[in-house]
Amino acid sequence: MTPQMPAWLDPSPWLDGRASTHADVERALRCDEPGPRELAALLSPAAHPFIEVMAQRARALTQRHFGRTISLYAPLYLANHCTSGCAYCGFASDRTQPRRRLKPPEAEKELAMLKEMGFEEVLLLTGERTSHAGFDYLLECVSLAAQRFHAVGIEAFPMTTREYGLLAEAGCSGVTVYQETYDPRQYDRLHRWGPKKDYLGRLEAPARAMEAGMRTVGLGVLLGLSDPGFDAVCLMRHAGHLQRIHWKSGITLSFPRLRPQEGNFTALFPVDEAWLARLVFAFRIVLPDVPLLLSTRERPEFRDGMAGLGISKMSAGSRTTVGGYGGAEPTTEGQFQVSDKRSVPEICAMLRNRGLEPVFKNWDSAFRDASVRGHD
Ligand code: SF4
Repeated sequence: MTPQMPAWLDPSPWLDGRASTHADVERALRCDEPGPRELAALLSPAAHPFIEVMAQRARALTQRHFGRTISLYAPLYLANHCTSGCAYCGFASDRTQPRRRLKPPEAEKELAMLKEMGFEEVLLLTGERTSHAGFDYLLECVSLAAQRFHAVGIEAFPMTTREYGLLAEAGCSGVTVYQETYDPRQYDRLHRWGPKKDYLGRLEAPARAMEAGMRTVGLGVLLGLSDPGFDAVCLMRHAGHLQRIHWKSGITLSFPRLRPQEGNFTALFPVDEAWLARLVFAFRIVLPDVPLLLSTRERPEFRDGMAGLGISKMSAGSRTTVGGYGGAEPTTEGQFQVSDKRSVPEICAMLRNRGLEPVFKNWDSAFRDASVRGHD
């Protein structure tokens, strides 16, 4: 049965007819409190002639809210076991690639390597909850990471509020749960089997994480799966809904595009770089102080151009294989192919050449330690 979209998410009032005019775009650019209507106008065909204005506005707002800095983080794939059948993923259970889980001492070794590379923020990733990599395993890995890193985030399976609370106590400060697509029909088609088929269970996971005290939640859609204009307005509605209810936590937004992967799933709604750039500019204009992320899925030249132009945070030196940073040869093909394969020093040099300062450290651990002391 096709899942039902909740009323608070419904984007149709802002997309009906999609007939934004030049006047609507100009109004959106002047608006003091832009919302979904303004976002829809900035993403409409009428906004084409305004792309340079949007880029300049995005640059100015990024500088105002984030200075001339780009935060850097690294993903660490802990396991690629999965029981779900997401049509677009190289880790889906019908793919042939070898399955692996880092044992805790192996995870520690990878964490030590990332630390040596200069990282202070790490994102731990797994597939869906399995007996190989379930909650207790993730909790152990979070504890290990929190001993070394200032900020520890997870991108894993949706959890209960209690589980998110335990992870927060162990030092996890951020949870990323991409809805992939907000279109319930498309979601149902693409999530062929497994726990990830639960549209509402996933949609409500960020709210549970915030309720449990996570400092940030990361939202996003996988561009290419569905109508990007529809998904963009839903993404903004989702972010706004969470910000209203859980105002103590922060939101980050990412804009991953579908990449080649085992399974050869190709984009149903291809998004080119020009559209992706406009999407980033539009989100920077409507949500000026929300960190916007761009991963190594994108080409080096594109990432270079977007740094500071809406984007305030990037991954660097990423491996999408389990054990990808260690000395051993990677044993899998990864969740998807990385496009920007430059080293961390190369990314830092690029940023400095563009007048931007790479930042590795944030102060999440200070907040974390203060909140632990507060419970003494
Ligand atoms: S996207 Fe996540 S849940 Fe879906 S198959 Fe890949 S690892 Fe599993």
